[in-house]
Amino acid sequence: MPIKQTITQQDVVTFLNRVLESDPEAMRELLKPVLVRDADLLQIDTIQFGLDKDKLPTITLLGLLNGLFGINEENKWGAFVSFSGTECPECGSLYIETESLGVGDNCPSQGCDGKLIFGGPFHFEAVDGQAVPLCNSAESRPA
Ligand SMILES: [Zn+2]
Repeated sequence: MPIKQTITQQDVVTFLNRVLESDPEAMRELLKPVLVRDADLLQIDTIQFGLDKDKLPTITLLGLLNGLFGINEENKWGAFVSFSGTECPECGSLYIETESLGVGDNCPSQGCDGKLIFGGPFHFEAVDGQAVPLCNSAESRPA
């Protein structure tokens, strides 16, 4: 494939989901926050930074990509979001972005006594700077 001169938001999302499908653990590592080493980076105001437990600024791959595409000036959302949530180590059920289920809660699957752990990312979407409603439906793990 020749080197592309332009890419769309959908190109990025399709690619991220392809990588996620191929190697979820590698993608999980790639999305871990990295401490900002030089405050000059913070001057790039389209990048979405996070804060670690000591309130120091962090950057992730997704924050970096959002910085490339820009942010919605009204609500400060970027072009892309990743969906994460909880998963049950006993039965494998995934609960994406649910408000009612958190880490350590009992798995709601019938007959399962597992405790939910952090799971994800499960999916990427281009939202073009729009806020995303939470999904409350349980989904089964992709094959
Ligand atoms: Zn379960």
